[in-house]
Amino acid sequence: MKFSRLRLLGFKSFTDPVELVLEPGITGVVGPNGCGKSNLVEALRWVMGESSYKAMRASGMDDVIFSGSGNRPARNSAEVTVVLDNADRTAPQQFNTSDTIEISRRIEREQGSVYRINGREVRARDVQLMFADASTGAHSPALVRQGQIGELIAAKPTQRRALLEEAAGISGLHSRRHEAELR
Ligand code: ATP
Ligand code: MG
Repeated sequence: MKFSRLRLLGFKSFTDPVELVLEPGITGVVGPNGCGKSNLVEALRWVMGESSYKAMRASGMDDVIFSGSGNRPARNSAEVTVVLDNADRTAPQQFNTSDTIEISRRIEREQGSVYRINGREVRARDVQLMFADASTGAHSPALVRQGQIGELIAAKPTQRRALLEEAAGISGLHSRRHEAELR
């Protein structure tokens, strides 16, 4: 399973519809300071279920909605869709029925987020678990924020273990066990 497309509409600095096609191999994004490179990676984290607005460099989740610039008016909603290429049929079991899987998250000002998997409305939790089962997600060690390497060196052993569990693809199981224990 691979990320194949990332679509943004009204997310942060991207007021117009944008589609990023991720071809096989390495994709590099280059551009001047402030052009939106980090916003693209944040869009990917956000659609995978990031729940912390601080991790989005925002002071509230509505801040991910385009707030206007120059002569472009602010928007009232933002939407990000990630398309997964599942031609190799390695998606987690219940989603492993098609060659592509589309996950989207939409936020309306003051109304929170709605998630969809292949057009069907689901809970944030379903999206988070799907990516955890696929050994990725908003907190995947594969997404390296600025300053994160330093944090890792200074981290406590339990925090470092969480990273290894993500990498080993068992964080979805742990998360389900934690949920079961709370019931
Ligand atoms: P650098 O090279 O400095 O790391 P970058 O290409 O990673 O820059 P980003 O941090 O992705 O740039 O983008 C920052 C820009 O996004 C800023 O100009 C900021 O004003 C804009 N931005 C962030 N949130 C919003 C929003 N909600 N509405 C409009 N613009 C926004
Ligand atoms: Mg940046």
